[in-house]
Amino acid sequence: KKSSLGETKIAVLGMAGVGKSALCVRFLTKRFIGEYDQASENKYKCSTVLEGESVTFELLDTRSQNDDMGARDDVVRWADGFVLVYSVTSRKTFDVLADVRRKVEDMKKASHVPVILVGNKADLAQFRQVTQDEGARLAVDLSCTFMEVSASEDVTKVTDAFHTLCKEIVDYKRR
Ligand code: GDP
Ligand code: MG
Repeated sequence: KKSSLGETKIAVLGMAGVGKSALCVRFLTKRFIGEYDQASENKYKCSTVLEGESVTFELLDTRSQNDDMGARDDVVRWADGFVLVYSVTSRKTFDVLADVRRKVEDMKKASHVPVILVGNKADLAQFRQVTQDEGARLAVDLSCTFMEVSASEDVTKVTDAFHTLCKEIVDYKRR
């Protein structure tokens, strides 16, 4: 009989245009479509097997309004863990994430909320504004995991990012 890791609620946060929807769709369908509805906020549910145990994901693809990075109070309260997304082609999208992290910690009243920092659009080398080292350094500051990915070019790393966060959430809940 297969045991269950239970449910994990994940919110995907970051500025408009960084590829939050592309990452969610890539993870859920393994496909990249190219254009995504900017107006809606989508919640998905899916189950998968991680290390021989079943786990259910609830995934919230947020829409950022008024530069809130999608991190509204109700979203932060709802989620168990967070994907903080920036685009490696935009310094601004990178610089805002420290504030998002702070908001999450303040609201959760915990200093170790499960978070993964994701630098998306790694395929656009010629437009890069944020180096991989800078991403890695921010992750050390925020004490979280870090990955660079490309929602448009890659499936493996995108899947890995969501699974890594999922495992952190499960470990966190078990403590
Ligand atoms: P969101 O506003 O954060 O949900 O961003 P979207 O997922 O709607 O993506 C914004 C734009 O960036 C769209 O035109 C996507 O096709 C494009 N995009 C998303 N991810 C990537 C990527 O990894 N590489 C490239 N080249 N384009 C991407
Ligand atoms: Mg979107």
